[in-house]
Amino acid sequence: MKKIPVAVLGATGAVGQRMVLLLASHPWFEIVQVCASEKNEGKSYADAVSWLLPDPVPSAVRSMVLTSPKLASQAKMAFSALDSGIALSIEKKWAEEGVAVVTNAAPHRVDPTVPLVVPEVNPDHIALVERQGFPLGGMIVANPNCVTIGLTLALKPLIDCFGIKSVMVTTFQATSGAGFPGVPSLSILDNIVPNIPGEEEKIENEPKKIFARFDGAELHYSSIQISAASARVPLLEGHLKSVSVELCTKTTIDAVQEAFCNYRFPLKDFSLPSSPKHPLRFFSEQTFPQPRLHRMTDNGMSISVGALRPCSVGDIKFFTLSHNTTRGAAGGSILLGELLTKVSPCLVNTI
Ligand code: NAP
Repeated sequence: MKKIPVAVLGATGAVGQRMVLLLASHPWFEIVQVCASEKNEGKSYADAVSWLLPDPVPSAVRSMVLTSPKLASQAKMAFSALDSGIALSIEKKWAEEGVAVVTNAAPHRVDPTVPLVVPEVNPDHIALVERQGFPLGGMIVANPNCVTIGLTLALKPLIDCFGIKSVMVTTFQATSGAGFPGVPSLSILDNIVPNIPGEEEKIENEPKKIFARFDGAELHYSSIQISAASARVPLLEGHLKSVSVELCTKTTIDAVQEAFCNYRFPLKDFSLPSSPKHPLRFFSEQTFPQPRLHRMTDNGMSISVGALRPCSVGDIKFFTLSHNTTRGAAGGSILLGELLTKVSPCLVNTI
């Protein structure tokens, strides 16, 4: 089978490194270009990167020369982990040159013609790319915010089984969520920093687009009300969330547990290489999930839900955990790239 040539934009950052690691052994994709900022252009990947992961830098990428993301190559797909400040124009340029761009950066997520997709939650939204009008088969799809991904996966069974009126969520977010070098050690060690800039707005708004009804032409945004409070905590990886939900249809804790355990996510039939067997792992223990124990569940691609109990303000409350740089960024966007490859007419014949 011929592999699809792909580029990684922002390949030296916290998310880009995970992309490089996951793509280096991918059955469908082959890295042909790695990009970083001006200060690293022309250097070999291994010399430029401050490698953060326990696995070594993949041998196929070690000696690749970093280029500017302004120079597209023969890649058919680009996985972007670019800094949000510069992503918008660069990603648009790649799409104009006929490349399918999967972005992790925030700017394109709010564009009504750009699908914001969690593959197990709203795979049908991918069809929105037909409204983008890029020549040569180019397109842009967006991976949501790292908290939003885990939160919408946890809420999806509840929305479909009982309906949701409102959600209160408090986050405990790992330091790697701020990229590299990220939060200064003197700010975060022995500490918790409330109200991560820009984060709460994304957590409150992105699910309305992800849970939107798509009528084949446009999205009708969900009216779900979400109030988010965020905090940075001294963990390396894993975003834990405390979630309280007001349901439309009143029910029992047992019925909610049943929904979490037996919900069939709509991605089940696609058999994608990065798709976890169980996107949601439910724990009946009241002290689970815990970041150190559960963030790597299913190679970091499954979310964990536990500590389910009644709520005296909403109806139910629980904790949920997801791996921010894997499920919430690199792994999530590669899964999205796989879905795109399966359903996009321009890419479907390439594998
Ligand atoms: P990061 O560690 O700061 O990495 C940023 C990357 O962008 C680096 O490769 C950097 O290259 C490159 N870059 C910066 N300025 C550039 C420029 N002017 N031209 C070309 N390349 C440039 O950030 P990150 O945490 O990996 O996040 C990457 C993106 O994913 C961001 O948009 C972020 O919001 C989003 N995201 C992050 C997470 C997470 O958990 N970390 C989760 C979801 C989404 P150099 O190394 O050469 O500077």
